[in-house]
Amino acid sequence: MAEAQIIDGKKIAADVRAEVATEVARLVKEHGVKAGLAVVLVGEDPASKVYVKNKAQQTVEVGMNSWEYKLPAETSEAEVLALVQKLNNDPACHGILVQLPLPKHINSEKVLNAINPDKDVDGFHPVNVGRLWVGERALVPCTPTGSIILAKSVRPNLSGMDAVVIGRSNIVGKPVAALLLRENCTVTIAHSRTKNIEDIVKCADLVIAAVGIPEMVKGSWIRPGAIVIDVGINRVPSENGKTKLVGDVAYDECAKVAGAITPVPGGVGPMTIACLLRNAAQAAAMQIGVKSAFA
Ligand code: NAD
Repeated sequence: MAEAQIIDGKKIAADVRAEVATEVARLVKEHGVKAGLAVVLVGEDPASKVYVKNKAQQTVEVGMNSWEYKLPAETSEAEVLALVQKLNNDPACHGILVQLPLPKHINSEKVLNAINPDKDVDGFHPVNVGRLWVGERALVPCTPTGSIILAKSVRPNLSGMDAVVIGRSNIVGKPVAALLLRENCTVTIAHSRTKNIEDIVKCADLVIAAVGIPEMVKGSWIRPGAIVIDVGINRVPSENGKTKLVGDVAYDECAKVAGAITPVPGGVGPMTIACLLRNAAQAAAMQIGVKSAFA
């Protein structure tokens, strides 16, 4: 059987960043406004520090202003809320991202809900969740947006497809299901309590796996020719005694059956920051009061 088309997330993310750079330049030229993104990091979590550094670097590369607020782990909730308020009131700052996880003494929900929904580039604020589900213009979570862009790179019109999302988190599963519905797919959400998951996945033309279980989705679960988008990022031991990254999909066996598949790494991963920048550019256009290239 023919091997699946490998969806090149690195290249598609670079294309998205190029589109963002064009939009950022347009907003400067036509409206005299340079889009700006602020990232708030509390504490010393090593993975978060790397994410924040990458975000800041890519923000500058697309021509936006970038601000990094690195606060010590012992910063109080009130101080974080005060910073969010300051950024909400700063007209030069169009997007605010508070890097999760926050230290335990800070209530993440309270902080995320304090962000002005129009500056909520992560799309986690309940107002944006509501706007997404009712079909209003919203800032949509980044990884789900990236997953849909990857699926549409294979098949630009997803209308009528049977889509199965595995996972129902607020960060990936639920928003990606909302986006698929908006694309006129018939959507099934499978999760930890779903019975006969294999049979459900077998019916799908499009599978989006966001579970966090290494290589859970087997080749025998995949309908021949289906598009498979693997959101999972799992670190597992490798043959050389070190660790390696694998997705939620057993890549080698699924690639033999699927029509198209994302690799891990190099699939959905690179799309997340690209879509964050896209959201920041969209937020800037919304705040200037002009049409965005993206929504
Ligand atoms: P989560 O733990 O919040 O949610 C996992 C979901 O999987 C839950 O809704 C649960 O119901 C479901 N689930 C658990 N066990 C299951 C089972 N046996 N069968 C079916 N469903 C089951 O995780 P998340 O934040 O949604 O992330 C999911 C994966 O995606 C993780 O590997 C994470 O690292 C990855 N992720 C990647 C990116 C990226 O940038 N590429 C971004 C976010 C998350």
